[in-house]
Amino acid sequence: MNKRSYVIVGAGMAGARAAESLRARGFDDRIFLVGDEGRLPYERPPLSKECLQGSRSLFSTTLREWDSWMELAVHLVLDDPVTAVDTAAGSVRLNSGIDIVADKVLLATGGVCRTLEVPGANLAGIHSLRTADDCDVVGDRLRRGRAKVVVVGGGLLAVEAASAAAALGNDVVWLCRSRHPLTGAVGGHAAAHLRSRYREADFDLIAGVSVVGFEGTDRVRGAILDDGRTLPADVVLTAIGQRPALDFLDPTQFDTRHGLSVDARLETEVPGIFAAGDVANFVDPFVGGRVRYGMWLNAQNQGQFVAGAMMGDTAAYRQVPWYWSDHLGLNVQMAGHIDETATIVTREHTEDSVSWFYVRNGRVIGAVGVNMPRDVRAAMMLMDRGVDVTDAEIADTGADLRALVKKVAA
Ligand SMILES: Cc1cc2nc3c(=O)[nH]c(=O)nc-3n(C[C@H](O)[C@H](O)[C@H](O)COP(=O)(O)OP(=O)(O)OC[C@H]3O[C@@H](n4cnc5c(N)ncnc54)[C@H](O)[C@@H]3O)c2cc1C
Repeated sequence: MNKRSYVIVGAGMAGARAAESLRARGFDDRIFLVGDEGRLPYERPPLSKECLQGSRSLFSTTLREWDSWMELAVHLVLDDPVTAVDTAAGSVRLNSGIDIVADKVLLATGGVCRTLEVPGANLAGIHSLRTADDCDVVGDRLRRGRAKVVVVGGGLLAVEAASAAAALGNDVVWLCRSRHPLTGAVGGHAAAHLRSRYREADFDLIAGVSVVGFEGTDRVRGAILDDGRTLPADVVLTAIGQRPALDFLDPTQFDTRHGLSVDARLETEVPGIFAAGDVANFVDPFVGGRVRYGMWLNAQNQGQFVAGAMMGDTAAYRQVPWYWSDHLGLNVQMAGHIDETATIVTREHTEDSVSWFYVRNGRVIGAVGVNMPRDVRAAMMLMDRGVDVTDAEIADTGADLRALVKKVAA
């Protein structure tokens, strides 16, 4: 019998987990895992944390060694980007001109950093942080210290980069267009709490300003702000979000503006073509609408799940969304739907350890914890199982929330 051929486009977290999972589920035919970074699949979260600071090697982020991929009999193509998916012919074209016949395709190409569209944005010294190569270049400069560093962006990646750069002895300013940085990422309560903690940090935060251009001839020398100021800058790091890496797809066949729209099995409108990870736009039952996440756990779980769907499983994808960040000695975790219109119940264990639960109609719909991973884990179980709760039960810091889960399970 002819062997089937499954092609996974994108050798990142979702793609790698899908390949492993196909084998773990007994798929015996050909698997191609096609990447464009010239590296074995690796994890990205350490790039803005330990790797940027130099306390962890890039090498250690590799998910699996070459030999181990060979044992799984996965055909690795690591430096030959996919340039087209021919749905009629059932094949995938590589930049080298090679066509791979594909019975099924998984698109798991992740994101591309958004860049500032302002004069001077192409000057040397202006970076973004998505890949190991980016981390290598920026980290190398930051670790020499004494640079004037401007970090642009209002999310967790920006504050991670700012704190790493400051810890390396650089003079760091973190710029944010919003007056209330991090609110979009972790909600208003946690954002306000975190900002109060940053007063002791070694970087300056300037909120409510936009960068309108950069000064410099060949290298960046300054960031020009919309309030008329120019901040001196040897290094600029932009962390202003990412868009789906789908430029290689034919726009007449796929609408890629908001990621790839998939059904509950992560299959696109084109039968046999699936999407997972940062490119997938799916209906999250825990949010009640379409979302496209840039979250490590989502990429990992969707990669594992989609392998089953490609093999014919009919189950629907269901996973409480979860994100974490480590910076300045703080562990921040976020789960579920951070909807400011819900009732927000605070659990203040100590000044340093606080969580906020988002409750609607007697159910937890979201939670954010600062140095409270236990609360967020419990919140995820409550959300997953749909446990009825009262605000008083949640607010009682003397009670173990896991008991609420157990009560229902009993
Ligand atoms: C610096 C950084 C820090 C992060 N920190 C956290 C964190 O603390 N917590 C958290 O939850 N999440 C974090 N994330 C998010 C998390 O890492 C991503 O959500 C996850 O990596 C997405 O996995 P993916 O497989 O969808 O995409 P990726 O891991 O980006 O993999 C996609 C791969 O496809 C490749 N590719 C693109 N186009 C093509 C093509 N045409 N042909 C072949 N290959 C192609 C890409 O180069 C890439 O190698 C972080 C992300 C970054 C960048």
